[in-house]
Amino acid sequence: MASPLDDVRKAAEEMAWPKLGPSPLCDACLGRLAGKAGHGLTNAERGRALRSLVPAMEAGPCWLCGGLLAEVDKFADLAAAKLAPWDFRTFLVGSKVDPEIAAREEALWAELGATAPEAVKSELNREIGKRLCDRLGKEPDFSRPDIVAIVETAFDVVEVQVNPIFVRGRYRKLVRGIPQTRWPCKRCRGKGCEHCGGKGKMYETSVEEVVAAPIMAQTGGTGHALHGMGREDVDARMLGRGRPFIVEIKEPIRRTVDLEAVAVAVNRSGLVEVEGLRMAGGEEVVALKEDRARKTYRALVRFATPVEDGKLKSGVASLVGRPIAQRTPVRVSHRRADRTRERVVTEIEVVSSDGATAELRVTAEAGTYIKELVHGDGGRTKPSLAETLGVACEVVELDVLDIQDSG
Ligand SMILES: [Zn+2]
Ligand SMILES: [Zn+2]
Repeated sequence: MASPLDDVRKAAEEMAWPKLGPSPLCDACLGRLAGKAGHGLTNAERGRALRSLVPAMEAGPCWLCGGLLAEVDKFADLAAAKLAPWDFRTFLVGSKVDPEIAAREEALWAELGATAPEAVKSELNREIGKRLCDRLGKEPDFSRPDIVAIVETAFDVVEVQVNPIFVRGRYRKLVRGIPQTRWPCKRCRGKGCEHCGGKGKMYETSVEEVVAAPIMAQTGGTGHALHGMGREDVDARMLGRGRPFIVEIKEPIRRTVDLEAVAVAVNRSGLVEVEGLRMAGGEEVVALKEDRARKTYRALVRFATPVEDGKLKSGVASLVGRPIAQRTPVRVSHRRADRTRERVVTEIEVVSSDGATAELRVTAEAGTYIKELVHGDGGRTKPSLAETLGVACEVVELDVLDIQDSG
């Protein structure tokens, strides 16, 4: 049976060794020239096996890496020290190697016709990673590590990138007048100015800030973001089962969250309630934001002149099950492209009416502008309740009652 070293020797036989010249190469750099041949060996072991095949070399420091590969223990020490303050379960090592070393190495591969070489960067990452694994008792993760240590070999510096954590759940917004996400002041971009009363933001708080605050306190993160399955207007409440969301906490020092304590703290705010909290993966954000769930609303409508019940009911019925063309509303035209899109309202129920006002329960496709469906937005939404009734209408209150997502 062939040993791994036989594979290395076989890869080596095909190479143009006479072109190597007498300049010294360390065992690791020599072995790396056939680094992808022979399983389970270190490059230094490969290198020692190849010594007998290659031309004699002068003594001295390695001309290729300049002794870099003898320093992996030192790099592992530096990385371990840099990672120490952070809580993490999985990690990954990356490195930034002097580009001249990589260039020398690639030129050598071409010269010798190496068919199975490994790059110096890859060896460094692996060797430093192995040492950290042993020392820290943590697992490497090549796709979604909690933390990444990047070793800059030329300066003996280790940079740490801490990946965010994500908490998923549903929120109810119990009050009107707060936005879903923090709304920074456009004039000062958060610094604080006269326009925003020195707060740097347009609203005292937001669903995002209320939900993130206890998680930030627990984890020591540096920032947060809230990703929602759509968003309600600032002046609309979000009731019923609540809206699915994911809160992202940036650069957390601690990654374990007491979710029950978070729910208790949020629910005490009187502004927002959360339920069903769980830790989530970053990949869930895209799917959450793409969900096109139907929504059910409660709309309290006021009529400019009295509307009798029969007329209201038939007017409402005429809006159901047909495409409603909605040009981007005036109120959002400053931040959204001006276009016309069609949405379908699947149900409108008249819950109560007294001639002057009516309470409606409206179920519509995701993205339907409900206020505009009622008042018509100066003809930009067609048809509308105002148009059908021939009476100006105004939405006095709007609440989201249900989001019919699959969750
Ligand atoms: Zn070397
Ligand atoms: Zn400002």
